[in-house]
Amino acid sequence: MNQEVLDQLVRLHEAGRLAHAYLFAGPTGIGKFATALALAQRVNCLKATRDPSACGCDSCRKIAGGNHPDMLILEKPEDKTGISVDQVRGLIERLEFRSLEAKVKFAIVKDADLFNEAAANAFLKTLEEPRLGTVLILTTAVPDALLSTVRSRCQLVRFAGMSAKLMAGSLKNEQGLSADEAVILAAFGQGSPGRAMELGRDFMDRRQRILDVFFMPGDTEGFVKLVGVDRNSAYEALGIILMALRDALFIKSGAGGAVVNRDRQVEIKRFAERCSPQELSGHVDRVTDAIRRLDGNQNVKVVLTVVREML
Ligand SMILES: [Zn+2]
Repeated sequence: MNQEVLDQLVRLHEAGRLAHAYLFAGPTGIGKFATALALAQRVNCLKATRDPSACGCDSCRKIAGGNHPDMLILEKPEDKTGISVDQVRGLIERLEFRSLEAKVKFAIVKDADLFNEAAANAFLKTLEEPRLGTVLILTTAVPDALLSTVRSRCQLVRFAGMSAKLMAGSLKNEQGLSADEAVILAAFGQGSPGRAMELGRDFMDRRQRILDVFFMPGDTEGFVKLVGVDRNSAYEALGIILMALRDALFIKSGAGGAVVNRDRQVEIKRFAERCSPQELSGHVDRVTDAIRRLDGNQNVKVVLTVVREML
């Protein structure tokens, strides 16, 4: 949850200036939805509590439990690829009703980039005709994927990624991780604590295996076999290698304090000693390029083989 955004919006509400539609944009897992829920709680709290998670009033409890009649949530069904026009129509219908309990009715659309075109167009009308006492909040990690007509009718609220240093500190304190683990997960979480937590121990294990093979010269077959042909695993593996190469560059340039893979420093240092700075930055460029080729739908096995053989 983003306290700063929340406080700002609560102040706007108190001044009677809350907009009727917001677009919360920022990386997955950064707390956009949690902030939207907390806003609905703060605005509708029966005791005007500042910390809704500690409030036991009827309204705060119902919103937290997902059973408040004036709190509407729209999201992609698990077995579908997008949000359908029928879902949007259902929401619009419920928005027509007068608020039953809440001072302000809220509708939150999770990952609004998953609207299919018909759904987006149906929703557009709702955005164009604000209703008094109703606030719409759309969340997305990819604002550019929304129809510009939808985007332009919402006030944009950006959720910035947390700095890796700040995040490592909070992961260490709140999740009981070791300092090294916290730094690693924070770096791979890309500014999103939720994403870092989701990676978790499984990722730490996968990362060790990738690095084991990576530091073993010449084992192309073992590397390709370990990663497999799944595109997401390939992205992850290349991301891990890229981070190790960047670490090697840091060590080479005397900035060893910036190393992410602290637990593998000895091997990374050995690798760095074998290469010139130019070679290292060449490696970084080529792995970055390989990731781009995965985006371009190139054969996973071919991309992995090329990467392994040039290092
Ligand atoms: Zn309350």
